Amino acid sequence: MRFDRADPLAAVLLRSPLGALVRGVARIRTSVQHKLLVAFLLVTLLFIVMGAFSVQTIRRMSQHTDWLDEAHRRVDLSHQLQHSLAMQMHLTGMALLVRNEMALSSVLRENNRFNDTLARIEQQAPDAERQIIQKIRTAQEEAMTVVADIANLVRDGKIDAATELQLTREDPLYRSIDDLVRVVAQHEDERMASLRASIQSANRRSIVVMGAFAVVSVVLALVGGFVISWAFILPVRAADAFLSDVAAGKFAGVVEVPNRDEFGALATRLNETARELARLDAEQRLTADTLRALNLKLEQASQAKSAFLANMSHELRTPLNAILGFTEMILDDLYGDVPAELKEPLADIQTNGKHLLRLINDVLDLSKIEAGRMELSLGDYAAEDIVGTVRASLRSIADDKGVELVTEVEPNLPDAYGDAKRLTQCLLNLVGNALKFTHHGRVTVGVELQGGQLRYRVSDTGIGIPADKLDEVFAEFRQVDATTTRNFGGTGLGLSITKKFVEMHGGRIWVESELGKGSIFYFTIPLRVELAATA
Ligand code: ADP
Repeated sequence: MRFDRADPLAAVLLRSPLGALVRGVARIRTSVQHKLLVAFLLVTLLFIVMGAFSVQTIRRMSQHTDWLDEAHRRVDLSHQLQHSLAMQMHLTGMALLVRNEMALSSVLRENNRFNDTLARIEQQAPDAERQIIQKIRTAQEEAMTVVADIANLVRDGKIDAATELQLTREDPLYRSIDDLVRVVAQHEDERMASLRASIQSANRRSIVVMGAFAVVSVVLALVGGFVISWAFILPVRAADAFLSDVAAGKFAGVVEVPNRDEFGALATRLNETARELARLDAEQRLTADTLRALNLKLEQASQAKSAFLANMSHELRTPLNAILGFTEMILDDLYGDVPAELKEPLADIQTNGKHLLRLINDVLDLSKIEAGRMELSLGDYAAEDIVGTVRASLRSIADDKGVELVTEVEPNLPDAYGDAKRLTQCLLNLVGNALKFTHHGRVTVGVELQGGQLRYRVSDTGIGIPADKLDEVFAEFRQVDATTTRNFGGTGLGLSITKKFVEMHGGRIWVESELGKGSIFYFTIPLRVELAATA
């Protein structure tokens, strides 16, 4: 796949069982929205479970603290018990020394405190300890009886007997109680130590379990994120690669994705589009081939036509020139006097012959241009001379029609470089047309230099050209309407030949006209024609 280089880790992971999981998720037949929802819910669930576990751990820890507090309290109580017992022994001794009631009642108060503390220890004490406590209580009661006897002896002033009783009965009793109390205190100390140890190990266990749980949660979240994201990234990348191929004109590819969600539907649509594009492409190629073949045929036909016209025109010109020459000689009386009634038909032959020659010349020029055989013969010329030649050629026609022929040449024009003969022909066509389509008024021929270009201008006050025909007049065999031809004669070739010659010089031709008011034809030619422009 293409992303092997861009994303090597993902590529490795996708080849592992994780890849199978990604494809499995992609294959699930449900919408992308539902898949994302389930993924987010799973992650949320993980958080909830982790939160619950933390709360549970905190609760257990606070319970442990309570237990420890309780154990402390019991240890304290057991120590108080020892202390209270010591006090009792001490106070009894004091009573013998000071021999008064107050000291005796202090022993009794201490006894009450001892009993009270013992009762508190007995609550929640294990059975073994209860038995010891029971023994303490019995011994203590006995000790109290002895204390009462000692008190009576003291009150009776029998101090020796009291001392004797204290040494023989009370002291051994207190020592045995002390032993028992010590056992209880030792039990409580041990219980606290073992509780502390078990709490410590429980805490250690909790930390380990929590750590493991956190690690598992993070791994699960990462795996889930990887699986769900790649289940969507893979089809997007496949579509991207496919569309790059399509953009490069390769329609044969297919998008293959395991997804059964919106991405699957998208892949199906893309494949259908590719098939349709491939079909259209094949169709278009076929059409292009057919068009190419047709174009070739058309080109060949056009060349054959041009070649035929060129040959034919040439063949036609020779006999026609002979006809015109002989007619001229007959009209010039070289073959003797021509009867008056023959003069008019002979003049008609001459006029029509000349028209036919012009037509043949035009066809010959056009076919030469189309066959690519027309070449300009470039040289220095003066634009003024061209205008002068055109004026001299057409002045008689203008005079015959009563139309004024005016020339406007910019003074001191520099020498130009181009094909003077062809440019003269162009200007003759334009001025000839202007005279042809003008009944009265004037025809003006002008030339001026404009930014390195010679601009020729032929304006007339004739019939004008409708706006929608302005572009057509330069096309071959085009005339504004058929009646024009009938009224004015012409072939419809003059302007198209003019346009071609102008363009061969690297120039441009255009017309401005208003129907009924007249027309102005312009063409521009570089002052000095470059050879490349004529190619
Ligand atoms: P044609 O031999 O018919 O004059 P052209 O190619 O020279 O052929 O002219 C094409 C047509 O353009 C003419 O038939 C005419 O309808 C129109 N046209 C050309 N020059 C003028 C003009 N000066 N005034 C009006 N119409 C013109």
